[in-house]
This record gives sequence, C-alpha cells and structure tokens, in this order.
Amino acid sequence: MTHNSPPSALVTGANRGLGLELVRQLLTLPQPPKLVFATCRNPNGPQAQSLQELAEKEPNLRILRLDVTDPTSIQLAETQVRNYLSGEGLALLVNNAGILIPSSLHEEKASSMHLSYQTNVVGPLLLGQVFGSLLKKAASIHSKKELSWARAAIINMGSAAGSLTELLGWEYGQATSYRCSKVNRAALNMLTRCQGLTYAKEGILCAGIHPGWVKTDMSSISEYTPMLTVTESIQGVLKVMAQLTEKEAGAFLDWEGHVVPW
Ligand code: NDP
Repeated sequence: MTHNSPPSALVTGANRGLGLELVRQLLTLPQPPKLVFATCRNPNGPQAQSLQELAEKEPNLRILRLDVTDPTSIQLAETQVRNYLSGEGLALLVNNAGILIPSSLHEEKASSMHLSYQTNVVGPLLLGQVFGSLLKKAASIHSKKELSWARAAIINMGSAAGSLTELLGWEYGQATSYRCSKVNRAALNMLTRCQGLTYAKEGILCAGIHPGWVKTDMSSISEYTPMLTVTESIQGVLKVMAQLTEKEAGAFLDWEGHVVPW
C-alpha cells in the first residue's frame, strides 16, 4: 500500500515541547500513521500528563518508556514496538529528545559535556542502531523504492546553535556543552551525515532538521526571544520532512527547508 505519510512513527522526548507537538500533528495528518509511539523518560509521572490526556483521545497513540541515555530502555522499547507492529516495520524515527545545560565556557563542567554528548549525540546513534532492523523492514515492504519519510526515515532534531559558521544566539547564551554536542549539535550533524550515507543504501532516509528558535522549556532559559510557537515550528518541520528526497540524505535543513550552514 502506498502512503504519502509514514504508516508508523516513533518520537523521543515526546512528553513536552516540540516532541509532544510533533506527536499531536502527526496524529492529525490527512493520512495519519496507524501507530505513533510517543516515548519519554517517565510515562506515568506528572511530566507526561499532557501526553496521557492525548492518549485517552487518540486510539493510534502508544506511550512507551525510553531514556535515550539508557541502552537497556532503548532495547526494551524496541521489543515493545516490534510486538505492536506485528511484522510491519517502523517507518519514521524522530530523535527529538535533547538537553541544554546553560553555562559559559569558563563555568562549563566535564559532567555537563558528557551528559550533553550522551543525550544529544550517543542517544540518536543508539536509536538508529537498535531500531535499524525495523526501519529496514519498513523500507523493504514499501511499494516505492525512492527514499522518503513515508518509506523509512530517521530525523535528528538539530540546532543552528551547533553551526560552526553561524553560532546562532551566542550573545544570549554560550551553552558550551549544547553547542559541542547538538546542543551543540556540531557532533550530531556529523552523525547525521554518517547515518545519511550509510542508511541510504538500506532504503532509509536520514536528515537533520533545525526547528527554529521556539517557545519551549528549553528556550525559556535564554534571554533570546523565541520567534515561533511549537505549532508553527512543527507545521514547518512536517512540511520539510514530507518533501525530503534522496538529495537531502545526510542534509541539515531548517523548519522552512533552507540549508543550515555547518
Ligand atoms: P524541551 O526542553 O522543552 O524538551 C526536551 C525533551 O527531551 C523533554 O521531553 C525531555 O524529557 C526529553 N529528554 C531529555 N533528556 C532525555 C533523555 N535522556 N531521554 C529521553 N528524553 C529526554 O526541548 P524542546 O522541545 O525545545 O527541544 C526538542 C528538541 O529540539 C531538542 O533536541 C532541542 O535540542 C531541539 N531544538 C530546540 C530548539 C528550541 O528553540 N526550542 C531550537 C533548536 C533545536 P523530560 O521531560 O523527562 O525532561
């Protein structure tokens, strides 16, 4: 069966901010996924209340526990997703979970550097590896052979704050550990390039998307006034995802489809 949108999707860090809005908007697509897996660290805690309320209204939504820094939880979530999909592949993986620990270069701590790297870079690497066989399965059974988000795709939520040439918002917050990881998504960008090259051969499209500077808990720590609401940002992100082709494998685009300088 041909799908103009992915038949299934998994989003990390889906209990608030951009991840939650992405889940909401995926479920309201003209042709919504049959299953959307919204993953978060504490599915039963107050942090996931909005997500729980959404799940009460949305029969296609499943909430799963997944901490991107915990390989065991990633593996357990993969087993649950595999069972839910009963033989079908996972079409779309969105590595959205991320952390920003504010600090200047002088105050930066080794522990923040490690945690930022583990969450923002190692997490997306492991997710791609562990969910790789389900993504390959989706790619192999899709009726069209061109790369697309509807066939199989990994999207990494990057940040222009990690751009080496632009250093977006430097005067509003140095956030060294974020900038160096993804947050400093400089490292995440290289991972996206490596995934783009490697996974394209397996029918999986991989790209990075900068969602813009958006009003969420993460951006509230900075004095830089966010320009976009989560609704506006995710509307743009979904439009960009839907238009991705093999030309964009490994690319880093913003929510309007413009190439973000490395
Ligand atoms: P928020 O801080 O609002 O939300 C971050 C999400 O990531 C939360 O759901 C959080 O869960 C989750 N998370 C953090 N650590 C982990 C972990 N170890 N395992 C699983 N989930 C985790 O951020 P935004 O919604 O603003 O950002 C989403 C993504 O977009 C991030 O990757 C960010 O870097 C990127 N981005 C955001 C921009 C913005 O302007 N807002 C700009 C550019 C990029 P919990 O509730 O448990 O903490």
